[in-house]
Amino acid sequence: MIMATREGTTPDERVERVERVDQPTTTHSAPSADDGGDRRRRMEQAERPALLRPTSAIPYPLASRAHHPAKSVVQVGDALIGGAEPVVIAGPCSVESEEQIHESARAARAAGAQLLRGGAFKPRTSPYSFQGLGLDGLRLLAEAGQAAGLPVVTEVMEPGMVEPVAALADVLQIGSRNMQNYPLLREVGRSGRPVLLKRGYAATVEEWLLAAEYILVEGNSQVILCERGLRSFDPQTRNLLDLTCVPLLARLTHLPILVDPSHGTGRSDLVMPMGVAAIAAGADGLIVEMHPNPENALSDADQAITPDVLRVLVLRAQAVRAALALAV
Ligand code: PEP
Ligand code: MN
Repeated sequence: MIMATREGTTPDERVERVERVDQPTTTHSAPSADDGGDRRRRMEQAERPALLRPTSAIPYPLASRAHHPAKSVVQVGDALIGGAEPVVIAGPCSVESEEQIHESARAARAAGAQLLRGGAFKPRTSPYSFQGLGLDGLRLLAEAGQAAGLPVVTEVMEPGMVEPVAALADVLQIGSRNMQNYPLLREVGRSGRPVLLKRGYAATVEEWLLAAEYILVEGNSQVILCERGLRSFDPQTRNLLDLTCVPLLARLTHLPILVDPSHGTGRSDLVMPMGVAAIAAGADGLIVEMHPNPENALSDADQAITPDVLRVLVLRAQAVRAALALAV
């Protein structure tokens, strides 16, 4: 656990605070609101390593690349998210039945995906829409992943459910609607599981990185960012996929970045081109919705690709990554 203290806190006060917490703790100071600009104090501070000190230029010291130049790699099973190969996570929007999720898992594996996705707790816009199978769905997902040899990613929507979900899932997804649910961010920060943090659909890059900081500050360094499209004025697509943020984030943060062209476009015919474009922009991988029978999907049917399309997408992602690795 990392504990933030205000600037001006004395070393003794810091030790006292640390002693009150029974976990290993690193201390760092944040500027106080009434910082009057004491020159000597500023000079002392400049001599200290800048590490872990939020400033107005870098309010997210733990997520910042300036403080952590080496790129972070999050390992899940055999997959290295942020490593040399693009990682593709695939599976249905929702776990619907035992047969559906096992078929999806086998298809994802055969197509070359490295992780299986599937929602058990679904954040649906309407309370009358299919809400997911809950814990039963989670168990089915975990069994299907195990049978196919794929780690699983699933969304957790409330702090009280983090523990049971973390017991069965390899990666905890924070959905777009919950990116700024701070109690939830803190709880997944304490879970010890890798976290896939989706961008809020109206969140700035800075708000997103500060959300990541909430998880990091709890001592969980396994944070993966995921761009999934922003609310826009044009109803032609479900969202506007912001690929500009991909190379921008590579400058701002050491955290790996995935792109979700399924929610990002809302149209199955746009998943392939935008998935390829995301890898070309430098994304570390993709998370896509794939269903054995897209037309029958209980949620997000319009954006589900088939296993055959997924197979080609994986190959193209690898080819684009290889092209980017060519020396200039
Ligand atoms: C999902 O991945 O199923 C999902 C609901 O995504 P988002 O939070 O990006 O809408
Ligand atoms: Mn979905």
